[in-house]
Amino acid sequence: MKILSVNAGSSSLKFQMYEMPEEKVLISGVFERIGLDNGMYTLKINGEKIKKEKDLKDHSVAVQTLIDELLDNKIIESLDEIKAVGHRLVHGGEKYAESVVIDQDVIKTVEELSDLAPLHNPANLIGVRTFMELIPNATQVGCFDTAFHQTMKPEAFLYPVPYEWYEKYGVRKYGFHGMSHNYIANRCAELLGKKDSKIVSCHIGNGGSLCAIKDGKSFDTSMGFTPNAGLMMGSRSGGIDATLIPYVMQKTGKSMEEVFNDLNKNSGFVGVSGISSDSRDIEDAIAEGNERAKLSQEIYVQKIVNYIARYFVELQGLDAIVFTAGVGENSKATRAEILDKLECLGVKYDKELNDFRGEERLISTPDSSIKVYVIPTDEEVMIARDTYRLANK
Ligand code: ADP
Repeated sequence: MKILSVNAGSSSLKFQMYEMPEEKVLISGVFERIGLDNGMYTLKINGEKIKKEKDLKDHSVAVQTLIDELLDNKIIESLDEIKAVGHRLVHGGEKYAESVVIDQDVIKTVEELSDLAPLHNPANLIGVRTFMELIPNATQVGCFDTAFHQTMKPEAFLYPVPYEWYEKYGVRKYGFHGMSHNYIANRCAELLGKKDSKIVSCHIGNGGSLCAIKDGKSFDTSMGFTPNAGLMMGSRSGGIDATLIPYVMQKTGKSMEEVFNDLNKNSGFVGVSGISSDSRDIEDAIAEGNERAKLSQEIYVQKIVNYIARYFVELQGLDAIVFTAGVGENSKATRAEILDKLECLGVKYDKELNDFRGEERLISTPDSSIKVYVIPTDEEVMIARDTYRLANK
């Protein structure tokens, strides 16, 4: 059964087509600069990359181009072969604790939740509507970034603010990166050989969040009401004292919007180092002796270690720590610096085993109190799995 896994943004659309249940990727790709000049797309088929330029006036043109490519490349013979399309949807609020078959009611609810994710939900819905129109016979499934975290208890998700903010306006911690943390929960449980386990999933990429996972369920997570909470990230501040916002507005004369833009785009690695949001550039600058780059890395590592320690206590011990996403999968230096600070918890790792990137591996030593894994995440296959399951119901 052929299934498309889709992640639609305001000007981009990423996709993978799977043969399910084998989970074989038949083709993947990304359409970029939709609605802008110089549109382009790249496809990957059998390890071969193809790049093409094409004006992509809107999402309909992108999806129609995708369909034409699927037919031209003989991935499908006819549109009827695409039985289901799974869409990544960012915000499901408290309404969705799992993936759902999309109908008009779901669209309306996701639209209503746009208040909570004004940049993402409307863009995701453009993707949904376009696929519904162009592949009307396929089951459309919505997979929410927030859904996995709906198992958090109030003591984990409530902010200590006036309770009516929660009741009236939905002010609470929602958490994000749910498809990734869920993938890690499943895969790590497989590697540990037990479902009833205590895991910290460290999804550290350009954006980053940690998730405390107990018995396969999200127990706590570092992102909050929005994805700019918790860890320091490439260009996001993560958690700060909210009072600094009016203070900086007053001092700089900037509007609230401008200060939020600074907290989202000009903070984190790029804000502290003044160099880049990309940890590769930071590592290079550190090697050249740049002090601010070194400082940004120290703050980054400190934040991550703080959360691991916190989750160690919240979960009353840990079976495993997992590193994933761009930095977690690739930066041996960051992993090493984090793990060195966890020695006080009895964490021990093998420096040679840690000297690699981008594959699944156990890097802790047999006498370590907590197992440490690197597991490349796969959010797309999670979408494909849920979509396959719901399409067959
Ligand atoms: P996103 O949050 O956008 O999905 P990714 O998970 O793909 O991001 O992570 C991208 C980030 O991963 C880059 O910005 C960079 O900081 C980091 N990264 C990627 N490759 C490496 C590497 N070889 N060494 C160190 N960091 C890397």
